[in-house]
Amino acid sequence: MAQNHPYYIFLALLAACSASASPNPLPDDPACTATDRVFMSRAFELARQGVASGNGPFGAVLVKDGKVLAEYHNRVRTTTNVTQHAETGLIATFSPKMDRATFAASTLYTSSEPCTMCCGSIRFAGIGRVVYGVTESQFERIITGTDETNHLGSKEVFARTAPQVKVLGPLMEAEGLIEHEKYWPTHSNPSRPRTNGASGR
Ligand SMILES: [Zn+2]
Repeated sequence: MAQNHPYYIFLALLAACSASASPNPLPDDPACTATDRVFMSRAFELARQGVASGNGPFGAVLVKDGKVLAEYHNRVRTTTNVTQHAETGLIATFSPKMDRATFAASTLYTSSEPCTMCCGSIRFAGIGRVVYGVTESQFERIITGTDETNHLGSKEVFARTAPQVKVLGPLMEAEGLIEHEKYWPTHSNPSRPRTNGASGR
């Protein structure tokens, strides 16, 4: 059967439609609290600020005893520094001013699930609790346009490398996915190296 036969064209269209379909939001982690929702909203706002500043849609907030200690958004594109993810950027910027006890008693809210690099930063900072908004495999589907996601999720990374870190998520994923759906279709695919070699995220 020729590749231009209507049957193959139908299959190709079906594949394209399914690949570009928005992921169905996953339910909230039942262990998250009403307070967690308040600070997740702030992390989403920081993700929007990241986009407004010319960067990817990622934000993070560090909170202790209900008080915001630090905020950061992704700065990878404007700095051309691939380590400038929201979580690692926050830790690198603020750790010289914080002691380990403060990190241990804090929650890091991040608009999207931390990648393996950021899991490492969180581990070495000694942050005690992490709450993420959008699951990494969910936004990777939007970035790649496929279901071929990598994933070693953050819960597994922490379980194997730093089990003392409490990790919760997803939380408010439907809201968090909106910024990804707006951003990635008009920006380069980070799986393809850019001219300066940066990953793009
Ligand atoms: Zn990261």
